[in-house]
Amino acid sequence: MTAALRQQVEALLPWVDRPARYIGGEFNSISKDPAGKLRFAFCFPDVYEIGQSHMGLVILYHLLNEQDWIFCERAYLPWVDMEQAMRREKIPWFTLESCTSLAEMDVVGFTLPYEMLYSNVVNGLDLAGIPIHRRDRTDGHPLVIAGGPGTYNPEPVSDFIDLFVIGEAEELVLEICAIAHRRDLSHTEKLDLLSRVPGCYVPSKVEVVWKPTGEIESFKSEVPLPVMKRIVADVDQAYFPTKPLVPFLQVIHDRANLEVHRGCVHGCRYCQAGMLYRPQREKSLETLTRQAEDVIKNTGFQEIGLSSLNTPDNTQLVPLIRNLTKSFEEKKVAVGLPSLRVDSFSVGLADSLNKAKKTQITLAPEAGSQRLRDIINKNISEEQILNTVKSVLDAGWREMKLYFMLGLPGETDEDLVEMAELFKKIIHVSKGYPGRGLFITTTLSSFVPKPHTPFQFVKQFPKDVLERRIRILRDRVDPHRVKLRWREFELGEMEAIFSLGGRELGAVIERAWQLGCKFDGWTDHFKYDVWVQAFRDCGIDHERYCYTEKTDQTIFPWEVVSCGVTKEWLWRDLASAWNRDSKPNCFFDKCSDCGVSESFDC
Ligand code: SF4
Repeated sequence: MTAALRQQVEALLPWVDRPARYIGGEFNSISKDPAGKLRFAFCFPDVYEIGQSHMGLVILYHLLNEQDWIFCERAYLPWVDMEQAMRREKIPWFTLESCTSLAEMDVVGFTLPYEMLYSNVVNGLDLAGIPIHRRDRTDGHPLVIAGGPGTYNPEPVSDFIDLFVIGEAEELVLEICAIAHRRDLSHTEKLDLLSRVPGCYVPSKVEVVWKPTGEIESFKSEVPLPVMKRIVADVDQAYFPTKPLVPFLQVIHDRANLEVHRGCVHGCRYCQAGMLYRPQREKSLETLTRQAEDVIKNTGFQEIGLSSLNTPDNTQLVPLIRNLTKSFEEKKVAVGLPSLRVDSFSVGLADSLNKAKKTQITLAPEAGSQRLRDIINKNISEEQILNTVKSVLDAGWREMKLYFMLGLPGETDEDLVEMAELFKKIIHVSKGYPGRGLFITTTLSSFVPKPHTPFQFVKQFPKDVLERRIRILRDRVDPHRVKLRWREFELGEMEAIFSLGGRELGAVIERAWQLGCKFDGWTDHFKYDVWVQAFRDCGIDHERYCYTEKTDQTIFPWEVVSCGVTKEWLWRDLASAWNRDSKPNCFFDKCSDCGVSESFDC
């Protein structure tokens, strides 16, 4: 099958965009004989260039292939031109390494990094010739599993996925594979067994009880709920691939990546990752230095990114940078800091790492007024922002990218007036420096209420309010100094719906896919009107999800799983937000009892 399939695929390559997306064989990719092994396909529901930079995929791909009883291969969703040709030639979705049809695998594993990729999951299953509904899958069909942040509200895609991996997968995925590899068990028996493995959420074991209003009344479950996340307690001992794949194609993050720690406990109230990956856990300096040197030795990359949710917080960072600068001097390997905090320390770090021509530095104040920064628990003052700008200018940068959010809970028109004032103050600071002064590119992303955050209870602002606020800002900033960018608000609305909705949305995703929706994360492919049509066809009012306030009495779809942070703590933290009370960073300061320590060592 694979040889014939490869021939068919290769015949298409001269006619499609970026054929290297479909050939595999990259440096450090792994080819194994599948005989007698568990066949696992790791699927990224978007194109190669995006999926290839996904740290989770790279870690698990190499981890699974380190097991001699597992045959793990990758599959990235074909772009629209290739998919069209494949459907015309009746070619199923295939793995890169050996060009094996996904339908022939034992396990098909998706990562769900973003809600707007859900139509791609359905499209991918259909292109693979695998029944899209879990209810239609029996013996002989692959087990379809999913992991990643999207699983913290698994319900919108629970019609299509047999099992959700809740939390960090390094240990759990091997437990799942051991059961999936049992030839003596049927498809259903495997799911029965897996539903009792900590960290596995099997939606077929849970029934949702609805109120006449369409809200959730309760859950009827054959297994204990909620399913608590799994974490890797000691990340210093955690598996980390030191011979990662080196892509042929230019990918989103075209560099080596070193995960320096897991978790962030700054407690920004809009940030889901800050709640999901608690507690914060660090690797030792010895481990970090060794892993970085090995990765560069085994790949030849000219840059390594020190990645985490908040790298400047890492207590080993300064000695690590000292070690790596020394080790990489001869090879001229650059060390990068993907995320920077708005403080002079971070700018100092970025400056020490980047003696070359200063292009652009990125900072994320998120809110323009102090009132709003307090509400979101950003814990930075205007003085800190202006001092950071001075550090940026002292270090020689003249271009700055600033990230702000629009439509944050509690936001008023006055907050946008204050944001415009902040830009004026930043530009004024730059007037004292030689050269052409500072140019600011500002990206405004619309606020999306996320499960497992204090803002899961709040509603979004409607489009007309967001458009008015953009006008307030645009009328007050100097376009020669400040460039404003923002995403279409409809995308933020849909993202909120699939963040907050329940099982009833499965029918909407399928209907939208039937109507042609896919690659919704790409603005030129996102069809808002078609999605609204799909809601109408399913008799669901799409506005009820993101334009209504909820309370601590509301039963949320995602209460079938837990990240350890309690609903009670989130409700209390929302009250703190309205009082502009800040929460400490519990890694450096005192614990605020979010609930995680009841299940994990903090
Ligand atoms: S329980 Fe305390 S220390 Fe642990 S993550 Fe929550 S706030 Fe931080």
